Amino acid sequence: MKSHAKVVVIGGGVVGASVLYHLTKAGWKDVMLIEREELTAGSTWHAAGGMHTVNGDPNVAKLQQYTINLYKEIEQISGQSCGVHITGGIMLAGTRERLDWLKMAKARGRYLGMELELLSVSEAKKLFPLMEEKYFVGAMYDPIEGHVDPYGVTHAYAKSATIGGAEVVRHTRVVDLKSRSDGSWDVITDHGNVQAEHVVNAGGLWAREVGRMVGLELPILAMEHQYLITEQIPALKGQKEQLHCIDFEGEIYLREERGAMLMGTYERAGVPWSPVQTPWDFGQNLLPNDLERIAPSLEVGFEHFPTLGEAGIKKVVNGPFTFAPDGNPLIGPVKGLRNFWVACGVMAGFSQGGGVGLALSQWMVEGDPGADVWAMDVSRYGEWATLAYTNAKVRENYSRRFRIRFPNEELTAARPLRTTPIYERLQAQNAVFGDYCGLEQPLWFAPAAAQATEEVTFKRSNAHPHVAAECNAVRNAVGLLEISNYGKFEVTGPGSVEWLSGVMANRVPEAGRMGLTPMLNERGKLIGDFTLCRPTADKVFLIGTYAAEDYYRRWFERRMPASGVSLRPCAMEYVGLSIAGPKARMLLQSLVREDLSNASFPFLSFRRMDVGMVPAHVGRVSFTGDLGYEIWVTTDYQRALFDLLVAAGREHGLKSFGGRALNAMRIEKSFGSWAREYRPIYGPYEAGLGRFVDLKKGDFVGRAAALEEKESGGQLRLVAFAVDAADADAIGDEPIWHDGRVVGWVTSGAYGHSVQRSLALGYIPAALASATSGFEIEIIGERRKAERQAAAAFDPSGARMRA
Ligand SMILES: Cc1cc2nc3c(=O)[nH]c(=O)nc-3n(C[C@H](O)[C@H](O)[C@H](O)COP(=O)(O)OP(=O)(O)OC[C@H]3O[C@@H](n4cnc5c(N)ncnc54)[C@H](O)[C@@H]3O)c2cc1C
Repeated sequence: MKSHAKVVVIGGGVVGASVLYHLTKAGWKDVMLIEREELTAGSTWHAAGGMHTVNGDPNVAKLQQYTINLYKEIEQISGQSCGVHITGGIMLAGTRERLDWLKMAKARGRYLGMELELLSVSEAKKLFPLMEEKYFVGAMYDPIEGHVDPYGVTHAYAKSATIGGAEVVRHTRVVDLKSRSDGSWDVITDHGNVQAEHVVNAGGLWAREVGRMVGLELPILAMEHQYLITEQIPALKGQKEQLHCIDFEGEIYLREERGAMLMGTYERAGVPWSPVQTPWDFGQNLLPNDLERIAPSLEVGFEHFPTLGEAGIKKVVNGPFTFAPDGNPLIGPVKGLRNFWVACGVMAGFSQGGGVGLALSQWMVEGDPGADVWAMDVSRYGEWATLAYTNAKVRENYSRRFRIRFPNEELTAARPLRTTPIYERLQAQNAVFGDYCGLEQPLWFAPAAAQATEEVTFKRSNAHPHVAAECNAVRNAVGLLEISNYGKFEVTGPGSVEWLSGVMANRVPEAGRMGLTPMLNERGKLIGDFTLCRPTADKVFLIGTYAAEDYYRRWFERRMPASGVSLRPCAMEYVGLSIAGPKARMLLQSLVREDLSNASFPFLSFRRMDVGMVPAHVGRVSFTGDLGYEIWVTTDYQRALFDLLVAAGREHGLKSFGGRALNAMRIEKSFGSWAREYRPIYGPYEAGLGRFVDLKKGDFVGRAAALEEKESGGQLRLVAFAVDAADADAIGDEPIWHDGRVVGWVTSGAYGHSVQRSLALGYIPAALASATSGFEIEIIGERRKAERQAAAAFDPSGARMRA
């Protein structure tokens, strides 16, 4: 084993081997992988090896497509077979809702270039004769599904990497990691030490323990997972290999295994494995079977696929593998740790391992993952994702693996965890809460006597008329919204304005003002949208997306000067309330001494002022597009502020509103939102944020690329549509058609109660930006006429905000 390497990858499962290969492919040859035992000696060796392209997040789906196409490449380089069987796959729907889900998945597949096909039950039966038709209402066929040999794939990656210059060290355990002042690491093993510039934690079942070596508690947990293999099935003899099959309502998956069938399940009563500490002496072991636990799924399986019930069980496999709370991988650099990277929590290593390796290696070598990996970014979990939180969420996620997650569905595990001081007051107003980063936030308010629950659906729910009433209050009187769920940073120090000016695309506002700004990466793509609030010359608050707080921190850390600037995250120190609507000024004026007239406190003013007895920062801005104020206070004052506004608001018709109404109103105004309209695959001009990019102020990160985008016009354009929808609105990820061709995708949709139309925002090619007709949006399998909106549906001139 050599004593120095540019990179040490810890872990020789499918993920570590893929990272190693991709690093060599990206040009880093001095790289090494250290494995405790043999390659695959974690969760990899006993995997069922299934792979598929469909994923709820289109960006993850793209990386899955990449992975599947990669196997040919590594087979060719290494000469090692990956045992690829592309059988095609069939997904069976047992309910109308699932059929709707399949229609939506098919629609999403259209702009990803996937050839998914909806089938009737009898067509499905022809392709998959083992099924009992009476349990199903429809199906979808995916030609690119199949399975691989886990051993073959891992060795093909590792061999391709060694051919590319990498070293693979087996039977060596990393026992500790020590950082050096130059940012490099001492990798301490039971067979000597290596000094590495970078370390990658691809420890799989032990990734949590490797994280603890550097003081990190990664939100991952292993679950026991069982599949069985039947005895040989005579009916399969001489037949073409059976398709992969997912029976969603049965919660089982099936595939052929040499004349027999393999059947696995994600049972509802799933059991975590080693919830606190993974034993180091666990190797190529299996766990004891527990057929009783999966008996309900087996019963359904034998009913839905009777031939299997007749075949007898030859073998049962029970093995652990890891999940993050949302079931997506955790990849990327970790804030607060230099040159430390993670690639773990990969629950579908044979669909995702290649994409994870590609993204991480590009991130390390080029400084950017090269794709939109927000859904997999380790920074999406903050300190709130503790061991116990992770345990509750992973168990929930596992048990729901094959269940539909409706767009308006709020999951219940690990709740309530975080609440703001006015939580009980909002409960008393019959709020229906959602969970955002573990924080309870009001989505809408049910009428006084009604139960505060929302029926889950792809269509308009029971919330619809109540959200309409909330929008109506904002547009005609005044509404009150809790806005605590924003990320906040306080920036101080003599160098703060200069530093911010170099990091953000817009100029820093003058003291007493606030301003909107995109944040760009070097490629000129959007990696954040902030409101900069400057109460005094020497202090700026950055307000942005809370879920991205660690993502921003990681970015800021890399760009912090040695002195002169201090940046402090303070999200939960300041909680907030917003009032919006034509009577908002009258209401607030009755509580403050300052003159709130348009002349004295115009749009985008930001000042420290007392509201009643409450010391607050007040900004004149509103995401609803109406006259509005955001009032920020320290946590101890929030109740008093709430009571004050509610009491004073009575005579102005004040009504609480929630996130659903806010979403509808911001879409009426064509205002974008992070992770929907604003993501690292879009440039600021494409996203309609060009007016917030100040190319004249001097240099800033991404300026050259932004200038180029401005000159070329970019590839895409964010546009708004009014949709002829019936009882279901667009929600996001639906295809946009133009003249019979899929040309783009929806990023957000909602019913615009103020304009009484179904609305959608989405991206289309810039070349189509001037087209006004011929558009359609596919909602639950139906192409609906979509009228391109030249301007925002509500108050296009912005007069109401500025009034
Ligand atoms: C029963 C079962 C069925 C499955 N079926 C499928 C399927 O059909 N399709 C699919 O895509 N996925 C499936 N999976 C999941 C799949 O196995 C995982 O996604 C994959 O194995 C994750 O790989 P990994 O490299 O992250 O982790 P691991 O395979 O756990 O690899 C981590 C490696 O790191 C090594 N290591 C850890 N710590 C250290 C250290 N300190 N020093 C040195 N080495 C260390 C370990 O020895 C291990 O080899 C299944 C899993 C199970 C259990």
